[in-house]
Amino acid sequence: MTGAAPAHTSREADLSRDAGATMPPATPAGGPLLRVDGLSKQFALDDAVLPWAKGRRVQAVDNVSFEIAPGQTLGLVGESGCGKSTLGRLVLRLIEPDAGSVALDGMAVTGAGKRQLKALRRRMQIVFQNPFGSLNARMSVGEAIAEPLLAFGVGSRTERSEAARRLLALVGLDPGHAGRYPHEFSGGQRQRIAIARAIALEPDLVVCDEAVSALDVSVQAQILNLLKDLKARLGMAYLFISHDLAVVRHVSDRVAVMYLGSIVEIAEADRLFADPKHPYTVALLASVPAETPAARKHAAPLEGQVPSPIDLPPGCRFAGRCPRAMPRCHEERPALRAIAPDHKVACHLYA
Ligand code: SF4
Repeated sequence: MTGAAPAHTSREADLSRDAGATMPPATPAGGPLLRVDGLSKQFALDDAVLPWAKGRRVQAVDNVSFEIAPGQTLGLVGESGCGKSTLGRLVLRLIEPDAGSVALDGMAVTGAGKRQLKALRRRMQIVFQNPFGSLNARMSVGEAIAEPLLAFGVGSRTERSEAARRLLALVGLDPGHAGRYPHEFSGGQRQRIAIARAIALEPDLVVCDEAVSALDVSVQAQILNLLKDLKARLGMAYLFISHDLAVVRHVSDRVAVMYLGSIVEIAEADRLFADPKHPYTVALLASVPAETPAARKHAAPLEGQVPSPIDLPPGCRFAGRCPRAMPRCHEERPALRAIAPDHKVACHLYA
């Protein structure tokens, strides 16, 4: 884990001047902040659009388990359509899982009643890819940032307004611009506003769903540095979802690699980038332009078709593209197994 500040001391200095704000209960010492266990989700295909797909379902997320420690960033990486954004929404229960459980600080998110869920949602926020779409064009940015405080009855109107100005300053924007509207800001500035809104309630966990993907490379770096700085100052954890390994590498303490709805490798970030084990991780790293000489040296380019998530093969889902596939790989699905402390791989090469 890198850069995590004590969870609530700097927060109090930065944020809790909001009257009525209450600090969330602390995570038990040594326990995970987030525990995800066996999470699965299928979607029915729309047979109005695809008549041939009547009654068929897509396995978007399949039996996914992982933990995130307080103040830790878990990067979740994989190709477009692998289920990582669905997983982020399942964690926040923005969509309901078919199976599995999510717990924050030992409290069940899955199965929580309406009031419990609202209390838990205060501690879990999300930053989306498109900051323009996630901000109300008719709301000033000060109102947008203060809106979560209003929803939870935090502070008076004046106090919320002051909190919004402080949050704008915290994300590197001019507090004097609180009365301006989203269209008056650049894409990077809008994402800073979305981040200010996400941290207004002092969450313990922020899900960043392709949060920098829509931004220019130079602006991406600024936002990534802002996220790292906020984590160090406020002590929150991130589930950082991205298709871009270079971006994930920049911010993550641990990394989970997802392929067709499942985690195929999860490890501490430096270890995963220095010594990837799963052939898919190796191939992904080979496509990153720099800093992965070991991976590039051994990697073959990714070839072959991704199997249809409607009609998944019986064995390893990567077998059709894997340069190291064996007969067993086409028959038996590999389980995610520990090969070292905090390093798990789903591959028969390591069984
Ligand atoms: Fe390749 Fe077989 Fe490992 Fe799948 S289980 S990644 S096909 S070697």
